[in-house]
Formats: sequence, C-alpha cells, structure tokens
Amino acid sequence: MKVCLVTGGAGFIGSHLCEALLNKGHYVICVDNFFTGRKKNILHLMDNKNFEVIRHDIIDELLIECDWIFNFACPASPVHYQYNAIKTIKTSVLGALNMLGLAKRVKARIMQASTSEVYGDPTVHPQKESYWGNVNPIGIRSCYDEGKRVAETLFMDYHRQNKVDIKIIRIFNTYGPRMLENDGRVVSNFIVQALKGEDITVYGEGKQTRSFCYVDDLINGIIKMMEVDNFTGPVNLGNPDEFEIIELAKIVIEMTNSKSKIVYKELPADDPKQRRPDITLAKEKLGWEPKVKLREGLKKTIEYFENELKNHSS
Ligand code: NAD
Ligand code: UDP
Repeated sequence: MKVCLVTGGAGFIGSHLCEALLNKGHYVICVDNFFTGRKKNILHLMDNKNFEVIRHDIIDELLIECDWIFNFACPASPVHYQYNAIKTIKTSVLGALNMLGLAKRVKARIMQASTSEVYGDPTVHPQKESYWGNVNPIGIRSCYDEGKRVAETLFMDYHRQNKVDIKIIRIFNTYGPRMLENDGRVVSNFIVQALKGEDITVYGEGKQTRSFCYVDDLINGIIKMMEVDNFTGPVNLGNPDEFEIIELAKIVIEMTNSKSKIVYKELPADDPKQRRPDITLAKEKLGWEPKVKLREGLKKTIEYFENELKNHSS
C-alpha cells in the first residue's frame, strides 16, 4: 500500500484517479482548493477509511508524509485557466516547486500532469515526445502552456540536481463523466448543448482536429506510468484517433437525437489547428494503449450529463 497525495483530486481526472488508487488498495490524500473541483466528485469516497481530503492551495507549502505524489492541480479548460491567468501560472510554477520540495524532503515519487499544450500549435504531426513545440509565449493560452512547460523544466532539474524520482506525462484531450456542465471544453459543451436543444457552438470552421481519450483509458496509463521504474518520461498519454471538431459536433447530434443546429463562432486566438499523439513510447515502455472508441466513451458521457441535467430540473 502506498500513501498517495493527489493534488487536484476533486477535479475531473483527479477524482477518477483517487477512486482507481483506492480500488488498488492504496491510501489517498486528496488536496484541492475547489476552484474547478467539486465535493460531489469525491462524495462517494468519503466513507472509505483509506481516503482523506484537505482543502489547500498548492501555491502554498504543504507538509505531509507520502510515498507517491500525483500533481494534477490546475484548471484545464481554456475558459477556466484564462479566468485568472496569473493564478494559473502560480499554480503551475509555485505548485510544482512546492510539490517537488515535498517530494525531495520525504523521498516520494512524483508525477506531473503535463499536457499536449506544451507542443502549442504543432508544426509536426502527429506529436512525438522529442518535438519541442511551437508555443506563443505572450498569447492568451500562454499562462497554461508556458506554466506547464516551466513545470516540466523544474521536474527535470529536480531530477538531475536532487535525484528526485520524477514522472512526466503529457495528457491529450481527455473526456468523460464528472466534467463540469459549464466546463467550456468541447466534448462537454457539445453534449450539454445537444441535450438542451441549444445551438452547437463550433469555433472557426470546425476543421481543427483533436484526438479524444476516454478517462478510464487515461487512468490506466497514469497508474502504469507511476508503477514502472527507471522511466521518467515525458510520455504522451492520449488516444491517437483524430477527429475534426465539426465531425465531433455531428456525431454528438446523431447520438443524442438532438434537434440542435450547428452555429459557427469566432475561433479563439492560438487555437491549435491539429493535435494527435504519437503513442509509440507509451506502448513500448508501459504496454499501454487506449481501448475505448469515441462513440463508446461518448455514450457513457452522454448518460452522465443526461442524469446531471435531470437532477437539476427535479
Ligand atoms: P479540472 O479543472 O477538472 O481539475 C483540476 C483540479 O485542480 C480541480 O479540482 C481544481 O479545483 C484543482 N486546483 C486548481 N488550482 C489549484 C490550486 N492552486 N491548488 C489546489 N487545487 C487546485 O481539470 P482536469 O481535466 O481534471 O485536469 C487535471 C490535470 O490534468 C490538470 O493539471 C490539467 O492541466 C491536466 N490535463 C488535463 C487534460 C484534459 O484533457 N482533461 C489534458 C491535458 C492535461
Ligand atoms: N471548441 C468548439 N466549440 C466549443 C468549445 C471548443 O469548437 O464550444 C473547439 C476549440 O476551438 C478547439 C477544440 O474545440 O479547437 C477543443 O477545445 P477544448 O477547449 O476542449 O480544448 P483545447 O484542446 O483547445 O485545449
């Protein structure tokens, strides 16, 4: 049994991770400031004797004993991370420094939830870990992209300089139950709009691409990465099936039998034109690849939002 600290543990991915770690027999300390996380996401874990929650902001120091640290605290939706850009940078940079300091002190293994955004608007396709990226340092996405890039640098420097046992995963667009209804990210936006019969808001012409990974697949990859020895990463974790955003809109409309119409809105600045992970390294080092096809994952996510919307109206 490992004592696991999960920062951002009340968020979308973090809550699934806490659950999976508990199911594997580990002890889990969930740390969250509840900016985009919710008590509701972890309510079902509260009675578990191996689970505890601390309301804490990782830009401040935390003193705790643990074996594994999963540093997942950071808003991930462009709407949320741009809401307070300076706070987002502080979370990524000061948060990484605090968590790395903790890992160094207690000799814990520590994982950073990095992102495909470190590749920016990529000029290499699909994206391999060896690609350094094409990131605007002064744009509206920079608080997130550059924050995550600095965090990766800090992780590598703590590893080289202080022998901290680090892991870096680069997560590509992940979706599933427990995303916020007003999250702003494309999968939750389209599903909620379709279920409410509202217009589906496609930004730009919808020709930009993303590759969507169902959350259960991602969680398996995260745990495999944490368990493996002698491999720091960075490693891409994502689903290599690539879709245009307009295709996603049509699939969601079809699967929800919605009468919603597609409307086209302005494309936000620096929106990456294409994104698909090369997962050769994850396959080789972790024996991992995603199993859940888009329609299968969307079905589960649609069911989740149907229930959420029903509960609101009752
Ligand atoms: P999320 O917004 O649902 O979860 C983030 C969690 O971190 C929330 O519970 C939030 O309250 C908490 N948090 C934010 N700032 C904090 C702070 N300063 N101190 C303590 N807690 C704080 O997002 P998510 O999709 O679950 O993403 C989790 C992690 O995975 C993030 O680090 C994100 O950058 C990374 N990631 C996610 C995706 C994706 O597609 N979901 C892709 C790439 C990377
Ligand atoms: N997008 C869209 N309509 C929406 C939300 C997002 O067309 O209502 C587009 C967005 O412009 C981007 C893609 O969908 O090209 C994925 O956006 P998301 O915010 O989910 O994540 P990103 O990968 O851009 O961080």
